[in-house]
Amino acid sequence: MPEYQAPLRDLRFVYYELFDGESLTALPGYEEATPDLVEAVLEEIGKISSEVLQPLNKVGDEEGCRIEDGHVRTATGFKEAWDLLREGGWMGLSADPEYGGQGMPYAIGVAASEPMISANLAFSMYVFLTHGAYDALAHHGSDELKAAFLPHLVDGSWAGTMCLTEPQAGTDLGLVSTRAIDAGDGAYEITGSKIFISAGDHDLTDNVVHLILARMPDAPPGIKGISMFLVPKLRPEGGRLVPNGVTCVSLEHKMGISGSSTCVIAFEDSVGYLIGEPNKGMRAMFTMMNAARLHVGVQGLAIAEAAYQAAAAFARERLQGRALTGPKFPNLEADPILVHPDVRRMLLSMRAFTEGARALTAWAALEIDHARSHPDPARREAADDLASLLTPVVKAFQTDLGFEMANLALQVHGGYGYVREYGVEQLVRDARITQIYEGTNGIQALDLVGRKLPAHMGRYLRRFFHPVAAFLEAEQATADPAMAELVAPVAKAFDRLQRATAWLAQEGMKDPDQAGAAATDYLHLFGYTALGYLWARMAKLALAKEAETTGEEAAFYQAKLATARFYVQRMLPRSGALFATVLSGSGAIMDFPDEAF
Ligand SMILES: Cc1cc2nc3c(=O)[nH]c(=O)nc-3n(C[C@H](O)[C@H](O)[C@H](O)COP(=O)(O)OP(=O)(O)OC[C@H]3O[C@@H](n4cnc5c(N)ncnc54)[C@H](O)[C@@H]3O)c2cc1C
Repeated sequence: MPEYQAPLRDLRFVYYELFDGESLTALPGYEEATPDLVEAVLEEIGKISSEVLQPLNKVGDEEGCRIEDGHVRTATGFKEAWDLLREGGWMGLSADPEYGGQGMPYAIGVAASEPMISANLAFSMYVFLTHGAYDALAHHGSDELKAAFLPHLVDGSWAGTMCLTEPQAGTDLGLVSTRAIDAGDGAYEITGSKIFISAGDHDLTDNVVHLILARMPDAPPGIKGISMFLVPKLRPEGGRLVPNGVTCVSLEHKMGISGSSTCVIAFEDSVGYLIGEPNKGMRAMFTMMNAARLHVGVQGLAIAEAAYQAAAAFARERLQGRALTGPKFPNLEADPILVHPDVRRMLLSMRAFTEGARALTAWAALEIDHARSHPDPARREAADDLASLLTPVVKAFQTDLGFEMANLALQVHGGYGYVREYGVEQLVRDARITQIYEGTNGIQALDLVGRKLPAHMGRYLRRFFHPVAAFLEAEQATADPAMAELVAPVAKAFDRLQRATAWLAQEGMKDPDQAGAAATDYLHLFGYTALGYLWARMAKLALAKEAETTGEEAAFYQAKLATARFYVQRMLPRSGALFATVLSGSGAIMDFPDEAF
């Protein structure tokens, strides 16, 4: 696999040309997050990702994790990489300076996570879960808990986890049965077993802080009786860390992300501390889950970027056959496979998805910062609405397509893709989990259709529909011939999305199975349309900038335009099939007799 190069130019394009990333500096606390500083941050993390994290990707895949003396050991080099990131302050990049963080905006944390994931998804899991635990504790923890735990999470001396899943409680967290008994002194005794816990135990830090869902004895049944607790592996007591009844019982043997420890964890009378209010654990957990869902969407995009880079490099070098129109490189034994239309189709699909998804991610992430920190409550509300709407789309659409793109990269490599040496089969295996954890993609689709569309009588939806409609109307009125070939197909897809939404609102209300049967296709229709809108905007920008630049810069904008054209001609038409599928209704699915399966 070639050395990964962080897409710094494209990150700058989406954050500072397509969107107004500079507006972050107007938000309280983010005055120093200037474009220059952000550029330096991204450059540095890009370098660490290429030079330190990527070389460990294969090591982690081959060595995996193991249990020794009751503790999990990570692959060779992981601890050193963690320490390097710690020393550079990367664990607290977007954490509050009050707890030792760098105070960078959330969106910049998101941008900085992409290179780390592209280089080594398994390793990035340890960082990502620690950020998630920080977020939930910072938002919902008591001052005492925050003071005791946040500085350790921020400086990376301790790491975090998210302990939801139990054998009988996966998607349905209402079935969680881990018990929490009030010990009378502000603490609780936690007993139960959790499975599939990422970063559940490891040797990167002195301690692991688990955020765990559990049920108190008098709690109402189901989801309304779940509370969230902080349970450290080692409990601070009298200036020392003492064992707290937390054991990693076993490690899962997985299809991918082998370098990330996935643990079965037993809690036995472990001391835990309530986070937030009793029985309101899901509310606190959602803080973590929403940020985590967006982050998993970045995983889809980041894997696709790594896959694209590997496939493009391979296609330039691999010599097979001749171009259909006659030899392009007659002095070579054969032409590079880059000349073949089918190979170009695959490479451009990867590129069009990746750059479009990067734009969608940036949009959602910037809105999250505005939702958290903008002084105007109306702007905060609008930003929160849009980010809430886009989050399931970013998570599910980007991971479904991220997996598709990793597969395409394997296909470009032919047989070399299927063998281990080239590293792309690892990308395919690693990418697969992103469609499953943090709420399966089917659940994301139900969230979009069942919660986000009807929220506040369609208010979330209008935050997306209005800017898209305004952009398309303005473009149609201008009738710029250079934009027309892009705008017309996007307008068509948008029309389909609007009609599918109206159909869902009507039919889903009468029969929930209609909504359930349409949800995944609807989410994809939404994703393709959102990327279509963003590609049209990117093309408009590129048209203007191409004319005023030369050399590499002009080439960058020309490639943007060409990729936009590919997207609307070769990928956006999928919206037609998705529209037809949504409107076909649930009959063909639900009328099939159960006993015939
Ligand atoms: C490698 C790995 C790492 C993980 N990391 C963590 C972690 O750090 N912390 C943690 O708590 N968990 C973690 N998980 C667990 C993960 O979040 C769950 O596997 C996931 O939520 C799905 O739960 P499940 O596996 O029980 O599947 P199920 O819930 O049994 O789902 C099976 C299928 O049924 C569908 N389904 C279920 N319910 C519905 C419904 N109501 N409507 C429509 N379809 C439905 C699902 O979409 C899925 O296709 C991890 C899992 C893996 C494999």
